[in-house]
Amino acid sequence: TIPQLGFGTYQVETEEAVATVTKALEVGYRHIDTAALYGNESEVGEALRNSGISREKLYVTTKLWNDKHKPEDARKAFEASLDRLGLEYVDLYLIHWPVPSSDYVATWRTLKEFKEDGRARSIGVSNFQVAHLEKLAAETDVVPTVNQIEAHPYFLNDEVRRYNREHDIETEAWSPIAQGGVLDDSTITPIAQSLNKTPAQIVLRWHIQRGDIIFPKSATPSRIEENFAIFDFELSKEKMNKISSLDKGEAGRTGPNPDELDEA
Ligand code: NDP
Repeated sequence: TIPQLGFGTYQVETEEAVATVTKALEVGYRHIDTAALYGNESEVGEALRNSGISREKLYVTTKLWNDKHKPEDARKAFEASLDRLGLEYVDLYLIHWPVPSSDYVATWRTLKEFKEDGRARSIGVSNFQVAHLEKLAAETDVVPTVNQIEAHPYFLNDEVRRYNREHDIETEAWSPIAQGGVLDDSTITPIAQSLNKTPAQIVLRWHIQRGDIIFPKSATPSRIEENFAIFDFELSKEKMNKISSLDKGEAGRTGPNPDELDEA
């Protein structure tokens, strides 16, 4: 079971990462999302150790970066991530992007080894489009536990979410508040005022009610608290629909379209 609300660590600077993740754990977050790319696995590991929280109460995800897809490179990269985190296992290990030139099916088979030897409790993918998922399904016998994709009110990404749902793949929505970009929206701010919540809380709550797993990032202590306080209210169907109607399709993305990726 994956805690539906976690804490994201992309762009948490190395120098502030121990204090930031420590704050998140104090507030009550138990699910931490990091990646080799973020350069803060050692600091995340230090904060986890310092917290004294028992390992089985934590849910830790990290990811394989794009230049490490070759099976031998992936094995080394996974070991290096575990070493930096100071963990014997991660709860979830993801292929970060379906790099076009990589044989991501071979990479996926390599991740399967980590699941079989127990060092990754679950394995999954990130930024996989329907065609990528179909290829994995056709050529391997392991379904990803998770597909971590961009999703927020300006980019619903419902086609991929639908495929995930129909194939028992959990959707994790990255950049859940579009890196702050949806917070002054003229549809969202009045909803926030009417419920006496902040725009960030409204948008995070919208994700929770859509059933996605989220891990907002903040390096600001008050926001780390704010983003965790989203379980004492509910959005009506009408408000949910209003927020969903903000979808801009592809134009709403903050990050790259996985089908148009350059090489690693
Ligand atoms: P988010 O949508 O979580 O937004 C983070 C930004 O919003 C920061 O600038 C933060 O500022 C600001 N912010 C956070 N909370 C509030 C608030 N309550 N009020 C106002 N501003 C706020 O973006 P991320 O891109 O970080 O996505 C979340 C996580 O998803 C990442 O950290 C990472 O773990 C994962 N991710 C995965 C990707 C993938 O390819 N698999 C790609 C991108 C992200 P400040 O820190 O200054 O408070």
